[in-house]
Amino acid sequence: MFKIGCHLSASKGYVHMAKEILSIGGNTFQFFTRNPRGGTAKEIDKNDIERFNTMARENGIEVILAHAPYTINVCSADEKIRRFGIETMKDDILRLDLVSNCMYNFHPGSHVGQGVDTGIQLIIDALNEIISKEQRTIVLLETMAGKGSEVGRSFEEIKKIIDGVKIKEKIGVCLDTCHVYDAGYDLVNNLDGVLDEFDKIIGLDRLKAIHINDSKNPFESHKDRHEKIGDGTLGTEAFEKIINNSRLKELPFYLETPNELDGYEKEIKLLKELRID
Ligand code: FE
Ligand code: FE
Ligand code: ZN
Repeated sequence: MFKIGCHLSASKGYVHMAKEILSIGGNTFQFFTRNPRGGTAKEIDKNDIERFNTMARENGIEVILAHAPYTINVCSADEKIRRFGIETMKDDILRLDLVSNCMYNFHPGSHVGQGVDTGIQLIIDALNEIISKEQRTIVLLETMAGKGSEVGRSFEEIKKIIDGVKIKEKIGVCLDTCHVYDAGYDLVNNLDGVLDEFDKIIGLDRLKAIHINDSKNPFESHKDRHEKIGDGTLGTEAFEKIINNSRLKELPFYLETPNELDGYEKEIKLLKELRID
């Protein structure tokens, strides 16, 4: 089954998001666990979660994806900022464990001049504090465009982080098409080569989700500006190949394009038309 959806606002709860995604033709969705500014999370609404779990089962929502606030940085040079990121992620995981089949994506962080090796070590230390054997939630490292001092700009950097994580069955990767194209992986002309490289370095068994975004900027620009599907430098044909690739087609795909709900509805419709099942 084609698992396709988009980023939604979480402000009205899980049941609301489920209704919203079903109404625009999707069957999975992504949401921020809390205000991107990193504020306190809403109180847990057990009733909403229970209703959602039932609804998901009945409507073929097999998996959903939570996104950590993008402002946290567990490899900051500032101990207080690192601590805040770690506590936020721990708290998010406790909450997400109540939701059936929810994965948790986060940005590895920016090393802010400390050097990539120090950054990677801080991310490893953070994950080893955050991840426990008991949790259900799988934590995903997002592949980054390499803007500024972002860590996770190459498959090698992601691999080094995973190598340092002790509880490996709880860690995976989310590949963002805009980010990896901006980072210098040519999804347009060499999709299979990029997947071969991912497999050789990280292992495709670690790949758990795809952020499906076109890019406003040229190949290898290290910019990270998402564009609507078909309006950017990757183009519709590249996405047709991505969603139908035998090594990717079972994964859930999430649109994070500059759209409101009606725009997402059109993109989901387009992608469903391009999909060969
Ligand atoms: Fe992200
Ligand atoms: Fe993304
Ligand atoms: Zn992005």
